[in-house]
Amino acid sequence: MSGFDAPLDELAPAIVTYALERIGLDRPPLDLPRTEADLRAATGATVTAEGIGGMGALRVFTEILAPASLSIDHPLFLAFVPSAPTDAAVLFDLVVGASSLYAGSWLEGAGAVHAENEALRWLADLAGLPLGAGGVFVSGGTNANLSALVAARYRWRQHRPGHERDRGVIVASAGAHSSVRAAAQAMDADVVAVATDEVGRLHGDAVRAVLAAAPAETTERAFALVATAGTTNVGAIDDLSGLAEVAAERDLWFHVDAAYGGAGLAAPSVRPRYDGIERADSFVVDPHKWLFAPFDAAALVYREPAVARAAHTQHAEYLEVLTERPDWNPSDYAFHLTRRARGLPFWFSLATYGTDAYCDAIETTLALTRRVARSIDASEHLELLLEPELSIVVFRRRGWTAAQYRAWSDRLLIDQIGFVVPTTWQGEVALRLCFVNPRTTLDDVEGLLATLA
Ligand SMILES: *Cc1c(COP(=O)(O)O)cnc(C)c1O
Repeated sequence: MSGFDAPLDELAPAIVTYALERIGLDRPPLDLPRTEADLRAATGATVTAEGIGGMGALRVFTEILAPASLSIDHPLFLAFVPSAPTDAAVLFDLVVGASSLYAGSWLEGAGAVHAENEALRWLADLAGLPLGAGGVFVSGGTNANLSALVAARYRWRQHRPGHERDRGVIVASAGAHSSVRAAAQAMDADVVAVATDEVGRLHGDAVRAVLAAAPAETTERAFALVATAGTTNVGAIDDLSGLAEVAAERDLWFHVDAAYGGAGLAAPSVRPRYDGIERADSFVVDPHKWLFAPFDAAALVYREPAVARAAHTQHAEYLEVLTERPDWNPSDYAFHLTRRARGLPFWFSLATYGTDAYCDAIETTLALTRRVARSIDASEHLELLLEPELSIVVFRRRGWTAAQYRAWSDRLLIDQIGFVVPTTWQGEVALRLCFVNPRTTLDDVEGLLATLA
């Protein structure tokens, strides 16, 4: 008998009912943030010695906290990279939470890890990686990029006797995600940023030229070339074949950051743009972005998982029982130890609907993006800045200042119409819409664009 044994007769159905109703909402309320002081006044003390009871805490959540947290799956949440998890994925997230799974080791989580690996295999096949490829789901693209780069540096250091402690160099485009720079900082590595072309794409020749002009002292320390397949700002896909070629010439680890854009691998209309990804030493794609999985799930796949394993396995007396076995232990493939089976909701949804449904849903968002671009073209007061490569549209409202963009964005959220924030493109303030939700319609978006008139 413990203090946790209070009966759940009322709470259990209340929670399940709330969850089912929320999952069933096609158009969830967008909601609004509130200040800390405001929230504290509204909730009162919630963590107390006696507790406020499950029903009390649930009421605080449903009535105060949830309405103060944006619904990322709202069809007009188009800022940053939204998320639109499938019903099956979200339902199964409840099961994962209920099942006390430990997915760090095969010994403890074999069944869960097997299913996660099935989902990873689908992604590896889409990219064209060989059968030995494998990896792990981590919390986000940020951890995935860091973990891949740590593996890359490990391999490089293994091959440089006498220079093991040298500071490494990562070559990436100026348009690479901020997490690549953050990883370099955490690893105390340098970044050589190479300029992209006018649509934000990095080319092999540009990297070749920069490396040819760089001092030998720098190029000798280069251990990885990071390509982006779908930049977060505009959705540009680097010239992956050209970059793979340079990586091979220079013996650099070729990492492809497709955290946002990787979903396009499943869409025949854009698949050829990813040619060259099959030569990656590692790649990342976030199912929590454009693959309809709930937070947080980023898939990291290595061509040769053994390198990552050597780089990442933690050794401790109490872990030897795990590390001495030849098992596939997901903990060994990234910078982490304990892990939730966060790939399972994605696996369950893939198993439920089939991969064709994924291809269709991704094509739906791509088709919407192209139609939105045509609507913007046809509008007098809007100017498309870039033909969309994937599902991001970047455009400007003629004559507006940065302050006007911000005021419009704030108003849109206060009026509960949608969530769109300004960005910059080539030094100019612009608007950016990112489509990952197959429930967003052209009518929805045209209504939103009408508020820019
Ligand atoms: C979103 C994104 C990341 C970071 O992913 P998180 O899941 O937010 O950590 C990295 N790279 C690219 C290209 C992204 O779009």
